[in-house]
Amino acid sequence: MKALAATPRNGELGFWMAGLAAQRPTYPCFTGQDSLDLAIIGGGFTGLWAAYFAKKIEPSLSVAVFEAEQVGYGASGRNGGWLSAMPAGNRAKFARASGGGGIEASRALQQEFVRGVDAVLDILKAEGIDADQHKAGALVAAHTEAGLSRLVARREADLKYGLADDESQLIDRDEFQSQINISTVHGGLFYKHCARIHPAKLVYGLANTLTSMGVQIYEGSRIERVEGKSLTLANGRVTTAKTFICTEGYSGPLLGKRTVIPINSSMIVTKPLSDEAWQQIGWNGLQCLNDSAHTFIYAQRTADGRIAMGGRGVPYSYASGTGGDGSTPRSTIDLILHKLGTFFPGIRFEAEHAWSGVLGVTRDWNGGVHWDPASGIGASAGYAGHGVTAAYVGGRTLAELAFERHTERTRLPWVGYRARKWEPEPIRWLGVHAMYRLFGLADQWEEHRESTTTSLLARFGGRLAGLHE
Ligand SMILES: Cc1cc2nc3c(=O)[nH]c(=O)nc-3n(C[C@H](O)[C@H](O)[C@H](O)COP(=O)(O)OP(=O)(O)OC[C@H]3O[C@@H](n4cnc5c(N)ncnc54)[C@H](O)[C@@H]3O)c2cc1C
Repeated sequence: MKALAATPRNGELGFWMAGLAAQRPTYPCFTGQDSLDLAIIGGGFTGLWAAYFAKKIEPSLSVAVFEAEQVGYGASGRNGGWLSAMPAGNRAKFARASGGGGIEASRALQQEFVRGVDAVLDILKAEGIDADQHKAGALVAAHTEAGLSRLVARREADLKYGLADDESQLIDRDEFQSQINISTVHGGLFYKHCARIHPAKLVYGLANTLTSMGVQIYEGSRIERVEGKSLTLANGRVTTAKTFICTEGYSGPLLGKRTVIPINSSMIVTKPLSDEAWQQIGWNGLQCLNDSAHTFIYAQRTADGRIAMGGRGVPYSYASGTGGDGSTPRSTIDLILHKLGTFFPGIRFEAEHAWSGVLGVTRDWNGGVHWDPASGIGASAGYAGHGVTAAYVGGRTLAELAFERHTERTRLPWVGYRARKWEPEPIRWLGVHAMYRLFGLADQWEEHRESTTTSLLARFGGRLAGLHE
């Protein structure tokens, strides 16, 4: 392991946003009064995609996006850049909850997410948005036999829930290492439909596109209250026919503190690696990378020759804290650097920037899209870390529901899906921390015992969280 003590930049909304600070488009703060056809709360991917599709459906609509801080302030500007086909939730639960649709309904959701990856890439091309997008699939590494047996089971579930044979493929150790030379790998899974993106470039590209379509964007414009068709800001009031709440991990004040909670995820990006390091690592295909550990990592090789890697640090702040600009404890940075060091021994990794952000998580980790025609209010949230494609599907579905376009998306089982409420504090804090602790212990157990089966601790943690299928 080569964890260095050098202090990286920390927080500042993360590497992607900080790196584009000079080019960032800025938008006015809303004051006064206005009347709109559609008001969108939240300037992340969900809100931006919802605005995009609303204008595509009906170009004459007056649409405004209200962002409390700055566009891309939330998870959309800070994520790992995986545009993946993983649905935002547990496929078995969606099958059970789909009002008679069963597995077929869940398969339809999976297939919409598969289509979603290419649909987003097609739109970026059509709109001339350069977000360093590159579709090369995703590799999931198993570092233990237990992890590998989980991947075998996961692939069976993939096929059951709608992926084709070539869309989820088991690969052996040699094949894995010929693509990414991880020293500890036992084998893995390859997912065909996944693309790397630069999150902040995607946020700004979408925001610029919206402006050219006539959407008004406001920054520093927090919606304090939603009362029927009336939205209240610190210095203004908006009357609107329809409202979309697209606030994901920040949803507590508007959707209820026990509906969607903010769970933290932390990332680092290394300094650019040398050619010799890349020769050792390989990764020439630019696949996205994660692993089958219970406390998994996710990573990408960036367009400028770094590794951006994320994992779970401090999982949850008491009473749903959202972590401001994303300052990250040194212990979390060292944990992620340590992982990198064990994957690629002998290479000297230095973190250039570390940051954290929040995922929106429901009690059973299943996301949902909701539209109430009576009140004219809708929401799409709870993607639990699989939100880049989910935001596109969710935002588009919200627009279709609100403007009465009946499509394959408006029938999906996450439309109208409601998880039960989170426990009140302090049980919520204790439960989330206990779950992460169990997952951490389970990983240690499986590594040290060279276990071939998943630890009971992890199974218990999964049950506690409601993650089991
Ligand atoms: C570190 C990290 C890594 C991740 N990696 C991946 C990944 O690789 N792949 C993947 O699929 N997903 C990933 N995710 C999840 C994904 O980024 C999110 O699910 C997705 O970006 C959510 O988009 P959103 O627009 O719904 O929410 P956000 O991007 O969080 O946007 C919500 C916005 O609402 C604003 N807001 C909140 N309240 C108000 C209010 N009252 N008035 C006005 N505005 C308000 C906030 O300021 C914020 O900008 C990651 C998340 C994190 C934190």
